[in-house]
Amino acid sequence: MISKTVLAQFKTIVGKDNYWDSPADLTLYSFDSSVEKPALPEVVVRPETTEQVAQICKLCNDNDIPLITRGAGTNLAGGTIPVTGGCVLLMTRMNKILEINVADMYAVVQAGVITADFASAVQEKGLFYPPDPGSQKMSTIGGNVAENAGGLRGLKYGVTKDYVMGVRFCDMAGNVVLGGGKTVKLCTGFNLTGLMCQSEGTLGVMTEFVLKLVPPPKASKAMLVSFQSIMDAGKTVSGIITNHVLPCTLELMDNFTIQTVEEATGAGLPTDAAALLLIEVDGHPAQVEDDYQTVLKVCMANNGAVKVANTAEEKEQLWEGRRKALSSLARQRPTLVLEDATVPRTKIPDMLQALEDIKTRYNVMIGTFGHAGDGNLHPTILCDKRDAEEMARVHQAVDAIFAAALELDGTCSGEHGIGIAKAKYMVNEVGEGTINYMKQIKTGVDAKNLLNPTKMGL
Ligand SMILES: Cc1cc2nc3c(=O)[nH]c(=O)nc-3n(C[C@H](O)[C@H](O)[C@H](O)COP(=O)(O)OP(=O)(O)OC[C@H]3O[C@@H](n4cnc5c(N)ncnc54)[C@H](O)[C@@H]3O)c2cc1C
Repeated sequence: MISKTVLAQFKTIVGKDNYWDSPADLTLYSFDSSVEKPALPEVVVRPETTEQVAQICKLCNDNDIPLITRGAGTNLAGGTIPVTGGCVLLMTRMNKILEINVADMYAVVQAGVITADFASAVQEKGLFYPPDPGSQKMSTIGGNVAENAGGLRGLKYGVTKDYVMGVRFCDMAGNVVLGGGKTVKLCTGFNLTGLMCQSEGTLGVMTEFVLKLVPPPKASKAMLVSFQSIMDAGKTVSGIITNHVLPCTLELMDNFTIQTVEEATGAGLPTDAAALLLIEVDGHPAQVEDDYQTVLKVCMANNGAVKVANTAEEKEQLWEGRRKALSSLARQRPTLVLEDATVPRTKIPDMLQALEDIKTRYNVMIGTFGHAGDGNLHPTILCDKRDAEEMARVHQAVDAIFAAALELDGTCSGEHGIGIAKAKYMVNEVGEGTINYMKQIKTGVDAKNLLNPTKMGL
């Protein structure tokens, strides 16, 4: 229990309009976008400056209060659930883009900036910020860095960590720490920027970033390719990569997902196809044409029927269909368990086969879509969490999905992070020695284990 005196100190730091402790308000921060069990915090605060964040960290440390940093709460792994109570620190008020430096191609942003708002602001200045998680209209840059979020353009352009040049964060003693900076090259001390990427709120509260920007591509070509066999689609993905073409986007949808998207959006997808690939190549116009010809050859060799998007509207319609995959699947059953098991991309056909087997073995409904070019599939299990017997089968199916991914030299998380949902799978992937090393780092910077406790099994 946090004492009334300490609660009053929280209120003094952020002001009464950015402080909440009523049961109704606390309930709003007891869950996130995962299906993990909710848990109530004791207080929620919304700071405006790095100095306020530092004061909150120190107050929590001095009074043994768990501190859970929260951006938009769109994570899918239970990463913001206050499992052991404590203080939820909301970053949404720190939402300013402080600088877009066109000449040096970087931007300085606060952690609570919404990803899509930032990408649009950069585009207006003639530059490009590629990371584009499907949640970009809601998620924050801080949440993206803390989860190392990926997106549709990961194959060619990389993921969030590839764009973080610098970070400012607060430790539990209330110190403000700087990692990286504004130069392209930087070798001063430990790579704290790298350490904070993917740290899921367990090592500090990040308040500001320096983000890399790149020139936008001069041309692009998008196409929809339908297949009568999902294995042919899988072979096409590895065929494109082994022919040394890196599309900016290479997305897959299985038949079940195609049907649900079509039912929900009427986007004109071919519902009789066993699988679809949505492919976009970009770059210099000559390179785009060359890459397109190679992609076309590989698709045809694997019995794919190619339809090129000829206008901006057609292209937008194609991507809109893909962006709606998750919400369309969500309409089918009350509960949705979205996984992000990832394998080396040449092993996509094996992973697709494993998913088919798991579907039958555990009698579960799975829709599969995802960033196939990255080897990052999103098998999505549709179920009803009120049905205990069904959920037992779902949990077995999830275990089997991760076992299959690890068997194929993959990982239990390509982009959604570990949180509480996947903590139990980590040891199988990295081993006890690695887990112990991570625990030593954690203890070194947060001796009382107050920063987002229980996440990643820490
Ligand atoms: C519809 C939908 C589509 C999605 N599509 C994708 C996708 O394509 N790719 C992808 O990678 N993910 C995707 N996600 C997952 C999710 O959006 C990402 O993980 C995103 O990065 C989370 O951002 P957030 O602001 O919501 O963070 P939150 O959910 O609030 O927090 C996530 C984690 O980051 C920590 N954190 C947040 N801010 C900070 C900070 N300032 N300092 C320190 N720690 C912090 C939290 O403690 C927590 O551990 C999707 C989710 C949904 C609901």
